[in-house]
Amino acid sequence: MQKALITGVTAFVGSHLADYLLDTVGIEVHGVRRPRSRIEFIRKGVQYHEGDVTDYAAMSRIIRKVEPDYIFHLAAQSFVPLSWQAPQATLMTNVIGTLGVLEAAYRERPEAVIHIAGSSEEYGLVYPEECPINEEQPLRPVSPYGVSKVSADLLAQQYHHSYQMRVAISRAFNHTGPRRGEEFVTSKIAKCLAEIKLGLSEPVLELGNLEAVRDFTDVRDVVRAYWLLVNKCEYGRPYNIGSGIGRTIQEIVDRLLGVSGVEAEIRQDPALMRPSDVPRLVCDSSRFRQATGWAPEIDFTETMKDLFEYWVEKLS
Ligand code: GDP
Repeated sequence: MQKALITGVTAFVGSHLADYLLDTVGIEVHGVRRPRSRIEFIRKGVQYHEGDVTDYAAMSRIIRKVEPDYIFHLAAQSFVPLSWQAPQATLMTNVIGTLGVLEAAYRERPEAVIHIAGSSEEYGLVYPEECPINEEQPLRPVSPYGVSKVSADLLAQQYHHSYQMRVAISRAFNHTGPRRGEEFVTSKIAKCLAEIKLGLSEPVLELGNLEAVRDFTDVRDVVRAYWLLVNKCEYGRPYNIGSGIGRTIQEIVDRLLGVSGVEAEIRQDPALMRPSDVPRLVCDSSRFRQATGWAPEIDFTETMKDLFEYWVEKLS
């Protein structure tokens, strides 16, 4: 049976990918977890190995032991605002961590297919006439997180070009759904509304920039895309993944208000504004769709409903 190794398996995207590989694809799934990783999304069927992506020796040992056919490298510091508070830690995890995984794979398992996750934040400063964004768009990151993902993306390309390794590169736009961390805007709103619904807090939502436009895809459609990416796409070449639909944060608020049936006052808090916010990110994923036939299957309202229900259940 084929084997996949997932870093970041105890977190949002990694745990959904493990579900998909076990329940739909039917391959053996191994995961790297840190000693202090959350246990909330641990599931039966995944074989866990203790390690940290910034620990090169540990990664080498795990790759040597598992002998994976696929490595999905999803462990990262993924919260953009935290990257301004902790830029060194963000680059350490996202850049040195990625380099360690690539180097360990090169030494221990060069035939494996490796997925390196870039991000739409790599594009950063995008002028309105440049949307929707394809892969030829210049990279002008405006956060330490964006810079870290540019570096990871370029390292992935370099390992492919230097050693002909089978490195598949994604640039996914925003994704959300059940298990999304509460610091991310969709989950933050859904959690607040669930608290209001359950009578746990006052009917007030405090948010930052409501005009920002983002392209949200359901995480379950994204992990399905990652499996297609490693099997059907050219290595060493980035692929955008996203719905192609831009929505303002205000629209997300309105959708979640509709789904929850709750009424709330919206307050804008200047402290929640970012030092530099990408105003508009909308994806052109033609390259990926042509290579794989992928299209999102889960309707956005369904995603918002599932996210809201996830929080209601968690808080009840
Ligand atoms: P990101 O795009 O990966 O940083 O993640 P999010 O899904 O959290 O979307 C962030 C967008 O929502 C940015 O444009 C933020 O400025 C905007 N936003 C507005 N209010 C908030 C808030 O209270 N929290 C967060 N995380 N983002 C907010």
